[in-house]
Amino acid sequence: MRLRHKPWADDYMDDNSHIVIRSPFEWKDRWNEAFDKDQPLHLEIGSGKGQFIAGMGKQHPDINFIGIERVKSVIVGALKKVLDAETENVRLINEDAQDLRDLFAPNEVDHIYLNFSDPWPKSRHEKRRLTFHTFLEQYEDVLKPGGELTLKTDNRGLFEYSLASFSQFGMVLEEVSLDLHELEDSLNVPTEYEEKFSAKGQPIYRCKARFKD
Ligand code: SAH
Repeated sequence: MRLRHKPWADDYMDDNSHIVIRSPFEWKDRWNEAFDKDQPLHLEIGSGKGQFIAGMGKQHPDINFIGIERVKSVIVGALKKVLDAETENVRLINEDAQDLRDLFAPNEVDHIYLNFSDPWPKSRHEKRRLTFHTFLEQYEDVLKPGGELTLKTDNRGLFEYSLASFSQFGMVLEEVSLDLHELEDSLNVPTEYEEKFSAKGQPIYRCKARFKD
């Protein structure tokens, strides 16, 4: 079954517009009003089928989470996970995160997660990597001073590139792990890709980096 041809995807999102926010640009600078509680806001860019964002929502009721995913046939999977998790603190946005400054005001966000982002290995596609400096500039603008970014990937090339890009941008590397699962971090919420790649025996890389205050 090819979900992308399912016309019900729009209906499903419309019926659950308290979770998939349908006109997200209108919420800029008042995202706290889209949630039941006014509390810190964490974003995941490219949330895929939502295992991470739903799991994080459940694990951290004192944080509001937004997952941004551009592919409609994929985000409906995330919507189902969020509904199944019965967690009140997760919202989804079906948009391409071209420029986060269109969606969020300066200082509106506390933490950004990039999980298994497309690696764009060809150097002519460097600009598309979500850790290219133009993206870091946007993240810095929407994050609070000293805001953090967490990256997880199985892709060594993207990982090394991102570490260099963070450093060149003046960010502070707070954690660099070349084998996340060896750390036995009980709070780690695995993503779909993470489970798939670690089942194949591939190490998962994680980096936490902070923008300067
Ligand atoms: N985070 C998930 C999915 C990883 S695949 C996991 O770890 O399992 C990368 C996802 O990011 C894809 O679903 C892709 O559609 C989405 N994506 C890539 N660039 C994006 C962008 N600019 N805006 C929104 N979603 C994006």
